[in-house]
Amino acid sequence: MMQELERGDSSIRVLSSVQSLVMNSIYSLGSEKQKLNYLPKLSSGEIIGSFGMSEPNHGSDPSSMKSHYEEKEDYYLINGSKMWIGHAPICNLALVWAKGPSNTFGGFIVERNTEGFSTAKIEKKWSFRASETGELIFQNMKVPKENLLVETDDIKDLFNRLNIGRFGVAWGTLGIAMECYDVALKYSSERKQFGNTINSYQLVQKKLVDMLTEITKSQVLTWRLGLLMDKGEASFEQISLAKKVNVKMACEVAKKSRSVLGGMGITGEYPIMRHINNLEALVTYQGTDEIHTLIIGKKVTGISAIK
Ligand SMILES: Cc1cc2nc3c(=O)[nH]c(=O)nc-3n(C[C@H](O)[C@H](O)[C@H](O)COP(=O)(O)OP(=O)(O)OC[C@H]3O[C@@H](n4cnc5c(N)ncnc54)[C@H](O)[C@@H]3O)c2cc1C
Repeated sequence: MMQELERGDSSIRVLSSVQSLVMNSIYSLGSEKQKLNYLPKLSSGEIIGSFGMSEPNHGSDPSSMKSHYEEKEDYYLINGSKMWIGHAPICNLALVWAKGPSNTFGGFIVERNTEGFSTAKIEKKWSFRASETGELIFQNMKVPKENLLVETDDIKDLFNRLNIGRFGVAWGTLGIAMECYDVALKYSSERKQFGNTINSYQLVQKKLVDMLTEITKSQVLTWRLGLLMDKGEASFEQISLAKKVNVKMACEVAKKSRSVLGGMGITGEYPIMRHINNLEALVTYQGTDEIHTLIIGKKVTGISAIK
C-alpha cells in the first residue's frame, strides 16, 4: 500500500504512515479502553493523529529530549515542544514523548483540546508540500492519568515504535522509483532526436536498464524484509538498512529519469522534480542516512559511534 500511495505522492503516503505509526503504538502498548476509544476513529480517518518525538534541538538524538513530565495527583504535567511533526497543525490527537524525573520516558495520548497544548505550522516547505508539518507546544499541559500510554526506562522502547514508519518509507521509495522509471520509459519511446526515438540509443537504454536493475534489487530486499516483519523477526538494523538503501536507490533512479526527459524533466508537466524534492525530505526523515549508517555500523562492528 505504501508503495502505491507514494507512487502518487509522498504526502499521501505520509498521511497513511503517520496514522499507522500512531495506531500501531496504541495497538501495541495501549489499554483496552485506549484501543476502543481511539483505534476505530483513527482507522476510519475520523480523527487525525500525529507522532511527536523530534525536538527543535534534538532531532537525530531524541534520547536527549528536553520535553519533560511530572506526575501530579490526578494528571501529568508536561512542558516542552516537538518540531517537524507530520500533521501537527491539523491533528486531533498527538502521541507525545517526554522524559520523567528519573530518566524514564513516557508516551502520552494528548487530545487537541487539552489545557496547555497548542500547535504551529512550518511554512514554505519544498518537500511534502501537500502535507502539513509543524510544532507541538506544551505549556503546563495537563494530561489525564488515563492517557498515559507507556512509561519505560529504555529508549529502545521508543525507537522500536519507529520500525513500522521506516518500513513504510522503504516501500514508499520503491513506488517513487517505479513511477520515475515508468515515466522515463514512456517518454523515451516517444521522444525523437537525430531521426529516431531516444530509447533506441545505447546510452539511454543503459540508463533504463540501470534503473530497472536497482529497482529490482530493492524490491527483492524489501519483499524479504516484509516476510521477516510478518514473522516478527526483522531486526531494527535490517529495517535501517532497507530504509537507507531504498531512499538512495530512489534518489539515483529519479535523477536518471530526470536526465532521460531532458529539459521537460524539470517542468511540472512531469512528476520527477516533485518526487526529487520529496526524496530530499526522505533522506532526513525517519532517521537520517548518516544515523542509519551508524546503526548498521554498530551492528557489524559491535562499537557504537554515537553512545
Ligand atoms: C518533512 C519532515 C517530517 C517529519 N515528521 C516527523 C514526525 O512526524 N515526528 C517526528 O518525531 N519527527 C519528524 N521529523 C523529524 C526527523 O525525524 C528529523 O528531522 C531527523 O531525525 C533529523 O533531525 P534534525 O532535522 O534535527 O537534524 P540533525 O539531527 O540536526 O542533523 C543534522 C545533520 O547532522 C547529521 N548528524 C547528526 N548527528 C550525527 C552523528 N553523530 N554523526 C554523523 N552525522 C550526524 C545528520 O545525519 C544530519 O545530516 C520530520 C522531518 C521532516 C523533514
